[in-house]
Amino acid sequence: METHELIIVGAGAMGSAAAYHGAKVGLNPLLLEQFKIGHNNGSSHGGSRITRYANTEAEECRGPCGEK
Ligand SMILES: Cc1cc2nc3c(=O)[nH]c(=O)nc-3n(C[C@H](O)[C@H](O)[C@H](O)COP(=O)(O)OP(=O)(O)OC[C@H]3O[C@@H](n4cnc5c(N)ncnc54)[C@H](O)[C@@H]3O)c2cc1C
Repeated sequence: METHELIIVGAGAMGSAAAYHGAKVGLNPLLLEQFKIGHNNGSSHGGSRITRYANTEAEECRGPCGEK
């Protein structure tokens, strides 16, 4: 029987990131998702998401959208 040190429910942005980083440190994650990957029923899905750095997260970020 296969075992997993990390089990995550939900393959949205947060669960997928957790699974990615869990895999990188060798935790053999199991990522469970109720819908088909790429579905439109979660908060991570859709065409209107913007991901930014906050000023404190990157040395080169000076403005609200990272402009230098
Ligand atoms: C319209 C809208 C616009 C947004 N715009 C921005 C933006 O511009 N910038 C920004 O930073 N943030 C934005 N957000 C917020 C951001 O999208 C969410 O905070 C983020 O995507 C949440 O990710 P999540 O992985 O926690 O949730 P979700 O993406 O909702 O993922 C949860 C996943 O869990 C699955 N799931 C739930 N229950 C179960 C279960 N029992 N069994 C199996 N699977 C399950 C769901 O199917 C889903 O795939 C926006 C949100 C919305 C709704």
